[in-house]
Amino acid sequence: MRKLAKALLDWEAVIGLEVHTELTALKTKMFCDCKLSHDDPPNTNVCPVCLGLPGALPVPNSKAIEAIVMAGLSTNCQIQRRTLFYRKHYFYPDMAKNYQTTQGPVAFCMHGHLDVEVCADAAKERPGLTVCKDADGSYVTTIRILRIHMEEDAAKMVHVGGAEGRIGGATQSLIDYNRCGTPLIELVTQPDLRTPEEARLFMEKLRQAFLALGISDCSLEKGSMRCDGNVSIRRRGATELGTKTELKNLNSLKSLHDALAYEICRQAEVLEAGGTVRQETRHWEPRKRRTVVMRVKETADDYRMYPDPDLAPFDLPEELIERCRARVPELPDAKRDRYVADYGLKVADASKLAADPAVADFFQKVVAREPELVGTIANVMINLVPAVRQVTPAQVADLSGLLAKEAITFAQAREVLQIVDGTDANPSRVVDERGMRQSTDVAALAAIADQVLLRCAGQVQQYRDGNKRVVGYLVGQCMKAARGTGNPKLFGQILNAKLEKE
Ligand code: ADP
Ligand code: MG
Ligand code: ZN
Repeated sequence: MRKLAKALLDWEAVIGLEVHTELTALKTKMFCDCKLSHDDPPNTNVCPVCLGLPGALPVPNSKAIEAIVMAGLSTNCQIQRRTLFYRKHYFYPDMAKNYQTTQGPVAFCMHGHLDVEVCADAAKERPGLTVCKDADGSYVTTIRILRIHMEEDAAKMVHVGGAEGRIGGATQSLIDYNRCGTPLIELVTQPDLRTPEEARLFMEKLRQAFLALGISDCSLEKGSMRCDGNVSIRRRGATELGTKTELKNLNSLKSLHDALAYEICRQAEVLEAGGTVRQETRHWEPRKRRTVVMRVKETADDYRMYPDPDLAPFDLPEELIERCRARVPELPDAKRDRYVADYGLKVADASKLAADPAVADFFQKVVAREPELVGTIANVMINLVPAVRQVTPAQVADLSGLLAKEAITFAQAREVLQIVDGTDANPSRVVDERGMRQSTDVAALAAIADQVLLRCAGQVQQYRDGNKRVVGYLVGQCMKAARGTGNPKLFGQILNAKLEKE
């Protein structure tokens, strides 16, 4: 990313995101009772409403309304007591009624924000930044959320006979209305993001929040969460916004980051060569690692938006908002702060454990078994557990106990965890059966150390010449001689004592 860092010296990037989230946790569509499903045969979950037959009337899905209210509460939005549904007109067969039902100027959720913490390394991409949270130069920045509104998805179209399923050159186009009417929430940020890394972190944070709410499986890869990146650049110090382009097909956090980085560099090159950036929608090609023009932007007027006369103004009862508030679980940020305050963990470690609800849940189950060992447990959770497929809280608690007692080394703990992975074996028993328990018999260890010192005269000489780090090598030799059953810390102490004495 040398090129990006260079571009960002002269230019400031301005980024805003539009994020669509499919409410996959719901059972039925947004305005009818049709089943939500991804794997039924085409056009089997349809009815007069989602097929747009004349005279069919929509009825809002109350579960979807609860989900968007929870989404708004989890992102510090103001929940609007009265909102309207709007019609957004366009002509394309993926929406039989020729308009998408969405929302107008007042959405269910308005004016929220999420805070993003950016580490010191990434902070370097943001010259001129003065707000630093920590001595190490990392910072927290507040990204304002303009709104979150409710809308519906269109049908899925498959173009047959052309290249890569594209419509150009296709001989037929097939339509599956199963997806039509799927509840979506769209979140729009203010253009407050300044680097691709900030955008990536914001998206990650948002995903964690929505996952914790249980409203969607939030998969960028599968498309249940889709993000468009809007980006423009301006000279450092300028206050006016430049012309933006909108990036599509960002189906991973990496694509979001890389596409924005590419686009910032591309715009800088255009402007530095005396050209102008055109307002257009561009498609990210992950394999070629570039963006290409998709279409020149349509203007809002083309959509002829107006309130949907089939849907009455929506009044949210206070009682519903309170019920939703009670259902919003502890979010990763609050969890992180609690781990720091209650368990004395480092902020970075607490963040890692709190980020994913499943990981946090597992961690807390282990801690409930061995509350005294929380530091060791955190270490095992962060450094060992991600490498195995299936272990239980009981196994991790037992393993942490062995480590805390120094009955095994960290390397052995890794090995034991791999042995018990996917089984119901007890780590303590595995350690006993395999004779892995470390000897703390000082006399026996000292005897091994004596042999090693005799064998390694060269290293002993180096130590005398002032190279104290050679002890690490000698400890390694002792561990080898003891076939892993020695205690490296004890060996270190014994060796140091002997070397100092001689
Ligand atoms: P459009 O009408 O093209 O969809 P909007 O004003 O609705 O544009 O904004 C869409 C997204 O683009 C928002 O996230 C907003 O923050 C962002 N955005 C708007 N203007 C700019 C700009 N000049 N540079 C970068 N992002 C922008
Ligand atoms: Mg837009
Ligand atoms: Zn239907």
